[in-house]
Amino acid sequence: MVRRRHPAVSVPVKGEHEQALMRRAGRVVALALEKIAGMMRPGLTTAELDRAADATIRGMGATPAFLGYNGFPATACISINQEVVHGIPGPRALVEGDVVGVDLGAIVEGWYADAAYTFAVGTVTPAAARLMETGRAALAAGIAAARAGNTVRDIGAAVQRVAESHGYAVVRDLCGHGIGRRLHEEPKVPNYVTGGGNTVLRPGMTLAIEPMLNAGRPDVRMAGDGWTYVTADGQLSVHYEHTVVVTPDEPEILTSLR
Ligand code: MG
Repeated sequence: MVRRRHPAVSVPVKGEHEQALMRRAGRVVALALEKIAGMMRPGLTTAELDRAADATIRGMGATPAFLGYNGFPATACISINQEVVHGIPGPRALVEGDVVGVDLGAIVEGWYADAAYTFAVGTVTPAAARLMETGRAALAAGIAAARAGNTVRDIGAAVQRVAESHGYAVVRDLCGHGIGRRLHEEPKVPNYVTGGGNTVLRPGMTLAIEPMLNAGRPDVRMAGDGWTYVTADGQLSVHYEHTVVVTPDEPEILTSLR
């Protein structure tokens, strides 16, 4: 008998109708992030950003995907500077030079989309700007690798190559995921090469690809609020994410405005 250390996982494939609903959810997510992009300024609180995201999602007849998920208390995860992901919005006011990761999801007729973007508040340091630029490039490389016939491992390899070639680390304790009927489905989509990741991509698979890049070490730890992941070394972190569908050709990004 052959023993598999990494048994093949069952990954759902979405049909045209299901993809269309996820496209609608993706558009809601993109519009909410665009709304937030236009608000970034010193003095604004993260609770105000969260309210705007919530109003945008509900205003389009969709449902926030994160609110209440495992008990999460808000519509958006807002993670500033050394915070990696899952920051809780509140009275904290943005400061010039902050690097603000906003992650949110929407549900349309039971179908999910999920995306994140890291915004600059005013002018950030050159080091922060480089990290952000590399984070966007890493996401683009990961998406480009999400082609039918490739494996999940190819996505992580592409992300890792971009990050590490610029001297940054990818977070290893958190990863991307399949998405569709649920926020988190199979397969897991790590941002680095692991022993697994041998799932072959097929048209109709829908993935949330989400590199998290740290300026320093890859290690993260949980903050005292029980939600927020922060870098263990206190250095900056950025997070970019899109929901994509694998096609016979280029992957289609469901969470961008076109
Ligand atoms: Mg996600």
